[in-house]
Amino acid sequence: MQQERFFFQAEAKQLLDLMIHSVYSNRDIFLRELISNASDALDKRRLEILAHPEHEENEGESRLSAPTIRISRGEEGRTLFVSDNGVGMNREELTNYIGTIARSGTGEFLSAMKAARESAGAESLIGRFGVGFYSAFMVADRVDVVTRRLGEGKGWRFSSPGDGTYTLEEAERNEPGTTVILHLKTPDAEKGERDYTDEWTLRDIVRKYSDFISYPIVMAVSKKTEDGEAAEDQVLNSGKAIWRRPEKEVTDQEYEEFYKHVASDWEPPLGRVAFSVEGGTEFRGILFFPSRAPFDLHYAPRSEGVSLYIRNVFIMNDCRDLVPSWLRFLRGVVDSEDLPLNISREILQEDPLVRIIRKSLVRRVLASLKKMMADDREKYVRLWKEFGPVIKEGLASFDGAEKEHREAILEICLFPSVSSGDGFLSLGEYVEAMKEGQQAIYYVTGRKLPVLRNSPLLERCREKGFDVLLLADPVDEVIAPTLPDFRGKKFRSLEREDALPPEEEKTDAPRPEGLASFLREVLSETVKDVKISFRLTESPACLVSDDDGASFNMERILRSMGREVPPLKRIMEINPDHPVISKMNRLLASGGGEEKVKEYAFLLHDQCVLAEGGQIADPALFAGRLSSLLSENMDAAGGNFPPAGEGE
Ligand code: ADP
Repeated sequence: MQQERFFFQAEAKQLLDLMIHSVYSNRDIFLRELISNASDALDKRRLEILAHPEHEENEGESRLSAPTIRISRGEEGRTLFVSDNGVGMNREELTNYIGTIARSGTGEFLSAMKAARESAGAESLIGRFGVGFYSAFMVADRVDVVTRRLGEGKGWRFSSPGDGTYTLEEAERNEPGTTVILHLKTPDAEKGERDYTDEWTLRDIVRKYSDFISYPIVMAVSKKTEDGEAAEDQVLNSGKAIWRRPEKEVTDQEYEEFYKHVASDWEPPLGRVAFSVEGGTEFRGILFFPSRAPFDLHYAPRSEGVSLYIRNVFIMNDCRDLVPSWLRFLRGVVDSEDLPLNISREILQEDPLVRIIRKSLVRRVLASLKKMMADDREKYVRLWKEFGPVIKEGLASFDGAEKEHREAILEICLFPSVSSGDGFLSLGEYVEAMKEGQQAIYYVTGRKLPVLRNSPLLERCREKGFDVLLLADPVDEVIAPTLPDFRGKKFRSLEREDALPPEEEKTDAPRPEGLASFLREVLSETVKDVKISFRLTESPACLVSDDDGASFNMERILRSMGREVPPLKRIMEINPDHPVISKMNRLLASGGGEEKVKEYAFLLHDQCVLAEGGQIADPALFAGRLSSLLSENMDAAGGNFPPAGEGE
């Protein structure tokens, strides 16, 4: 069959260019990436043979040899082979996996990358994406892949000089699996580039980055014999499962490399929880907190997740039953001694053992996060900024099994508050700093922090010196109304009319009852009631609600999601001490000012909506009213304005 030539998908080509112009300074890691892919392919081979035993039969005489990853060096020239007898790829898989990038978030990644390219941020961004196979182009000026899919007769050769094109043609391959052939660039010793055909360099890289890989990584090395030299296969890795070794014997560097393998991340993790549980249910493993949220954390969990092993045998990636969705950012491995090897995804969900493991994992993770919060606040804040919104989803989980973790989740939550400046406050810290007489934990919800900081609702607490939590994550709106007590204190939204205990009337100003009933009538389409409030200090009025239903912000969120929501009618509170209110009241009482006060009433209402960052129903009408008000005010300023025509 003819050789065919193709172009890389545009985004794939951009990634490739980034690799070739090597934004990443540590070129050694290409080998880690290729070995990691080979190891995954061997995992897949095992699973596929379990599901289709006929594949093994069909391989005929040659049968399948023991799973192995082999590194070999070309007889002549500068070539390096990384080969596996794993699941292999067919033509379609080759083009889908290698010629294109079908992953969500690629667009965002590339634009972030472009922005960061000049700065030092580029390397860490690559880490957020993980470009695996493409890293081969850092060290090679041509890369070939010869592969045959398990269960299929035909093999394929892919070849690319890294210029955005590749060729495909049929190829022979005895055993299923994949060989990546790197035509290495000449290393520039002056730049400190290493020679990847050198035995000790290769040994060193494998030991450093891939020691824990559970399949043997074999290389033929020369041994001195009596008759001179002879080649002999040597296994370069120890292959010990890292979670089966005592934690204190494993170095941070080893954990880090293992993390990079399981999480397909190039950046080190922020923290880890290693565990070994014996007695009743026996399981061990290790979970990591990545240092950054993947681009798609909020809309599609990536496939890495937490892998399930049973008695040291890989069973599946991304076992979602092991950790709740609000911990979906965790990466790592759980190895159970008790589950049956033939367990399926469907059964897992029902399995009581899995539930026990899951519960125990959640407890361990929460305890570890609490410890991090206490011991290394700065690191914890970094983690919280990345994953806090996801962790908080756990508070909204109505699953009975999850409810028991609520208390512990609340302990590790951080929120911005009026007093916290740019930082965060834990609930424990909030409660400890509560003023005498303060009965509840107060909060306001909204879309933007700066708007919340200026909310008129805060006036009610500011005067008393009560701190207020500012909840500006979209998820806060969902969780806030469901929050249980925290250390015996209730959560109260300041948006509620009765959030604070009733206030003594402390004003000498006459109660603007007449105005209140006038406003009630004029604004009856939009507000439910108008009340005189003694809690406002700076603003003339604000809007509050009197039930536990959806708050104003919730209404806004639902609307932005395209839901039809009937407008929520709220209560307008007016401040009798404010000149706007007292003047409106006087104007009304003087008789004849009704039309004016009506206009002011609409303005006052829209102003309340704007102050809380909302959208007014008819902006053009509002603008018109404001203009005439301004113009009247200027007229009132009278003689101070030069007549038209002058000064222009
Ligand atoms: P990642 O490993 O992060 O998915 P890669 O670019 O390294 O990204 O690989 C893309 C895909 O190509 C893999 O997910 C896998 O399906 C396939 N692949 C890569 N190397 C091999 C291999 N040695 N054997 C079989 N499939 C492979």
